[in-house]
Amino acid sequence: MSELSVRVVGVGDAFTARYYNACLLIEAGDQRLLIDAPPALARALRDHSLATLDTVGLDDIDHVLITHLHGDHCGGLEQLLFWRRFVTGRKTTIHAIPEVLAGLWDARLRGGMDTLMHPDGSSSALELTDYAVVQPMLPGVTRLGPLELEWRRTIHHIPTSALRMRVGSRVIGYSADTSFDPALVAWLAASDVFFHETNFGVHTPLASLLALPEAQRGHMRLIHYPDQLEPTQVAIACAREGEWLKL
Ligand SMILES: [Zn+2]
Repeated sequence: MSELSVRVVGVGDAFTARYYNACLLIEAGDQRLLIDAPPALARALRDHSLATLDTVGLDDIDHVLITHLHGDHCGGLEQLLFWRRFVTGRKTTIHAIPEVLAGLWDARLRGGMDTLMHPDGSSSALELTDYAVVQPMLPGVTRLGPLELEWRRTIHHIPTSALRMRVGSRVIGYSADTSFDPALVAWLAASDVFFHETNFGVHTPLASLLALPEAQRGHMRLIHYPDQLEPTQVAIACAREGEWLKL
């Protein structure tokens, strides 16, 4: 395994009928960090494995980082956590900024996961910490083995974190969901490659990214793009499912 690599698991937006929802898998040394857990996660990983001829599945996720609580970014977490608790019995670690963690259990997961009813009529209660190790991302650098993670807030409807991930001198950036924010682009551009969202409405217009200087556009990959955008006809490279970039 190279020291730092990124697998593109999904490139689609919240409404896609063509792709998996946006999802990256970072590999740093022997650590694997999933960036967001979209619906149909197991199938997305399987299709990625078929494309790369290298198998990764739900059991290979050492860490999962949730950028924000919209369903296209965290709707696959229940599948991952149920599998890891009830099938293979090996906890993963969940990372998110404190505002995201504050709502993750109560506002997204607990309805389907907090009660186990037994055949004798009794029941037991579970908490998020019964399923995973929970690790808030505080300001500054979070270290996962050789990987150094930094985050920065984006402009979105709910609290959301953009990311820079470093091993030695190699850096990968990810905007997560955001409105156009030149300061965020500048922060992300201090990377060897960075993934930037584009979409309609509250998201970043493609025209704003196309107007950026070549020094920033040159190592940008579009992600979270609408089905209507044709990847071969855009002047910025589009991330494609099945890609595996080794830095
Ligand atoms: Zn969102």
